[in-house]
Amino acid sequence: MALPTRRRSRQVLVGRIRIGGDAPVVVQSMTNTDTADVDATVRQVTELARAGSELVRVTVNTVEAAAAVPHVREALDRSGIDVPLVGDFHFNGHKLLREHPACADALAKLRINPGNVGRGAKRDTQFADMIEVACRYEKPVRIGVNWGSLDQDLLTRLMDENSARAEPWDAMDVVREAIVVSALESAARAIELGLPADRIILSAKVSGVQDLISIYRNLAARCDFPLHLGLTEAGMGSKGIVASSAAMGVLLQDGIGDTIRVSLTPEPNGDRTREVIVAQELLQTMGFRAFTPLVVACPGCGRTTSTYFQELASRIQTHLRERMHHWRGEYVGVESLSVAVMGCVVNGPGESKHANIGISLPGTGERPVAPVYEDGEKTVTLKGDRIAEEFTELLEQYVARKYPRLAGAP
Ligand code: SF4
Repeated sequence: MALPTRRRSRQVLVGRIRIGGDAPVVVQSMTNTDTADVDATVRQVTELARAGSELVRVTVNTVEAAAAVPHVREALDRSGIDVPLVGDFHFNGHKLLREHPACADALAKLRINPGNVGRGAKRDTQFADMIEVACRYEKPVRIGVNWGSLDQDLLTRLMDENSARAEPWDAMDVVREAIVVSALESAARAIELGLPADRIILSAKVSGVQDLISIYRNLAARCDFPLHLGLTEAGMGSKGIVASSAAMGVLLQDGIGDTIRVSLTPEPNGDRTREVIVAQELLQTMGFRAFTPLVVACPGCGRTTSTYFQELASRIQTHLRERMHHWRGEYVGVESLSVAVMGCVVNGPGESKHANIGISLPGTGERPVAPVYEDGEKTVTLKGDRIAEEFTELLEQYVARKYPRLAGAP
């Protein structure tokens, strides 16, 4: 099936990563460590990069954090982690960047929030200071508006203009317009200050699904800068995943979005890499990119009285994710492999035939056998206590047989 036509934006180079234009939608994430803690930050950036984050943003909020950034970069480089780092600046970014040139140099991109650059007359000079650093170090900038920190001077101006209309807009429409205008006017100002247009990425994050869709459609229609998508403060657990997927899924289907982040609130001591996996799965299930082979599994029902097939599906997905680290360097195209693990004869054989390789486990009352299908044909029937191990072996053999080896693979 044909994918939706992507909105054609300019292309921006962030380190070695292309964003916008004909580049695939880029997955990014953000650390939640104290950036001044070099070891902890290096550890988490490494985890995020290994999970597949193609850019990692770090908070740069203090003198200590700014001083730590070059050390974080060096430590990552020493261990072969070449993921570009993005610096997140608020309130004091102009000062930190001016006083820590090594920080500016070590970053691949600066994120500037126009609502948090300063108020009144200071706003313009502090914004100009940051853009001047970006120009000097040839760094791209994401102008990242967030409605939790919307430029209040701009909002007041637009509210005043709205009051003068013969038919004033609804106040929320003015807020949404202010978010878009903040991004566009800041980009125009950055260009006036000398930042090339092909070094600007925009984002306009809000926490409501319908608001996000409306704002990004508006922004996409009014500029050709690449757009970073994300639902801010998406929330915890399934709510965060569902809200982010609903909002970004609609926009991606509209062809809008050049890079995405799923901003999940982790459980206490939870795994930060979850936001990377969710972003990858969103892009992969929509057919935009392939990262890791995915398991198609049925939900189970009254025909599956044991949890065996759920355990097998989970075990196979974990196996695929772990093996992908090696397969990526060995086989061409293996990331688009599809595997089915099904619970009974009702949909098991049919779904397994649609996958590259699939297994239909016996439901209640069925003979205790599990037919395996490869490329639509039944190849073998498994039975006994070693079904999981034998299916995993068949999966390994399938990959080795079907996917061409990369030149120079071990
Ligand atoms: S394939 Fe079988 S076990 Fe799975 S949901 Fe359908 S009927 Fe239930």
